[in-house]
Amino acid sequence: MSGDSAGTRAASHGIVVAIDGPSGSGKSSVSRAVARRLGTAYLDTGAMYRAATWWCLEEQVDLADQAAVAAAVDVMPLVMGIDPAAPTVHVDGTDVGEAIRTTEISTAVSAVATNLAVRAELRRLQRAIIAAESSVESAGTSFSGGRGIVAEGRDITTVVAPDADARILLTASEEARLARRSLEVHGAADAAAVEATKDQVLRRDRDDSTVSQFHVAADGVVTVDSSDLDFEQTIQAVLDVVEQVLATAATGPDAGTGGEGPAR
Ligand code: C5P
Repeated sequence: MSGDSAGTRAASHGIVVAIDGPSGSGKSSVSRAVARRLGTAYLDTGAMYRAATWWCLEEQVDLADQAAVAAAVDVMPLVMGIDPAAPTVHVDGTDVGEAIRTTEISTAVSAVATNLAVRAELRRLQRAIIAAESSVESAGTSFSGGRGIVAEGRDITTVVAPDADARILLTASEEARLARRSLEVHGAADAAAVEATKDQVLRRDRDDSTVSQFHVAADGVVTVDSSDLDFEQTIQAVLDVVEQVLATAATGPDAGTGGEGPAR
């Protein structure tokens, strides 16, 4: 099955693809590539929590003060650029695309993301963006609505978009996730580099797990395990799931189970 045929259908239906997963699963880069192939928009919800963290630090808000953090995020002037070819994040006119990827933000982000009032506000924004991109009514206007969207994070399949057309949990073994993130952050995956990455992967996921379930697939969510897949194979596995879901939706629940599915 090719990404092209899924892309054609995605464009006409304003498809919503929800992808969750832990740190180092390849979620962001895979989701972005999938959005490009499908011709949809791309929403990195982790970038929104990172931007909220950047904004609180910029505004000198004490991250331990839950009410102050929530109040700051409520008025955060956040603009998400959702073109998968060049996604952007601006806060109050400042391009924070690079600033939100620093170790300082990665270390602090869970403190903001476990604030339930912050989650409520960012989920509201996320749902509004997803609704605008999936709305078929606005397709064909001068706006970009209706092109569909791939949204990724920790709680997209379960809370933000439980009605998404395709819901995928992208997982990988702890070893694979640590090695990938270590390569990304330190340019190496030797023992010392992996050790230095543990806080960014394992501790962060442990903290995040207190507010979102993203280690086990919820009902109706398809698991794609990327431990033994390279980047291209992972993209293809996700596209296969999307294609399968679209085929099933088009012809009923019995379609797509008779051997025409992906050979995995
Ligand atoms: O995906 P990324 O590592 O950029 O996410 C950064 C942080 O944002 C996560 O560690 C988590 O605390 C938070 N997050 C979240 N819910 C989401 C997406 C991200 O809590 N849907």
